[in-house]
Amino acid sequence: MKILLVFAHPEPRSLNGALRDVAVQALEAEGHEVRVSDLYADGWKSEVDRADFTQLAPDARLRVAAASGEAFAVGALTADVRAEHEKLLWADALILQFPLWWYTMPAILKGWVDRVYAYGFAYGVGEHSDDHWGDRFGEGTLAGKRAMLIVTTGGWEAHYAARGVNGPIDDLLFPINHGILYYPGYEVLPPFVTYRVDRLDDAGFERVAERLRERMRTFATTAPIPYRRQNGGDYLVPSLQLRPGLGDPAAAGFALHLEDAAVGG
Ligand SMILES: Cc1cc2nc3c(=O)[nH]c(=O)nc-3n(C[C@H](O)[C@H](O)[C@H](O)COP(=O)(O)OP(=O)(O)OC[C@H]3O[C@@H](n4cnc5c(N)ncnc54)[C@H](O)[C@@H]3O)c2cc1C
Repeated sequence: MKILLVFAHPEPRSLNGALRDVAVQALEAEGHEVRVSDLYADGWKSEVDRADFTQLAPDARLRVAAASGEAFAVGALTADVRAEHEKLLWADALILQFPLWWYTMPAILKGWVDRVYAYGFAYGVGEHSDDHWGDRFGEGTLAGKRAMLIVTTGGWEAHYAARGVNGPIDDLLFPINHGILYYPGYEVLPPFVTYRVDRLDDAGFERVAERLRERMRTFATTAPIPYRRQNGGDYLVPSLQLRPGLGDPAAAGFALHLEDAAVGG
């Protein structure tokens, strides 16, 4: 497979930097071809602003989605964004790697999503009507490709368990896994999360590295998270509510968007 790894850590000698090298080596050892977008090293511009839309008249009001769609349609997005599109289309799979900062991805990576996920590329794709709410959540430009997160946390695994004070890790990562990766079509693999890393010693590192190598060895065959497809019949359109009778009637929240068999419903 061809794999793009988007890396978001400011220090190449960090734990994340070392884990990135482990992941790349393990993937290449399996015969995969890997490219890395190293956002800090590349000086990635993280904020969306007027400079992104050079086609916009100087006195025109900036409406970001509209400007994004217009620029995408005529190939006028900035060269850095177009280069990321080329890599995403080249790749059969995407890995996002980052330390958990304030319960989510570092701002530079969010800014990569904000700018690279252009209207017409990642959203605003497909028919939008009262019968069909776009090609998304399982369909879209990146359908048929795989994606996965590699995440490190300072907090302990127990802190992210079902009753942990931080909230369950699957819930915290849902906006990324479902809202950012599944949305434009990726099949999303379970994340690789390493907890309590801030005082990791060499032996601890080797244990983590071996777990990561194993996930990379099975990257092409690991079953994805069984999210429900938006256009697979489980949702009412246009309210986009899960149909009555599906899911646990007492349940609310993110787990409803897993296929019933996956949650025993
Ligand atoms: C702004 C901010 C917000 C944060 N928010 C959260 C949060 O919401 N939730 C949470 O749980 N945590 C949070 N943290 C903690 C954060 O997730 C961790 O500090 C981070 O995941 C550690 O990854 P790192 O790559 O920066 O590790 P580093 O600091 O580079 O290394 C961590 C440890 O690994 C050791 N190590 C072992 N082997 C190696 C090796 N081969 N190479 C390099 N280092 C090695 C290092 O010596 C060090 O002790 C936050 C931290 C910051 C700065």
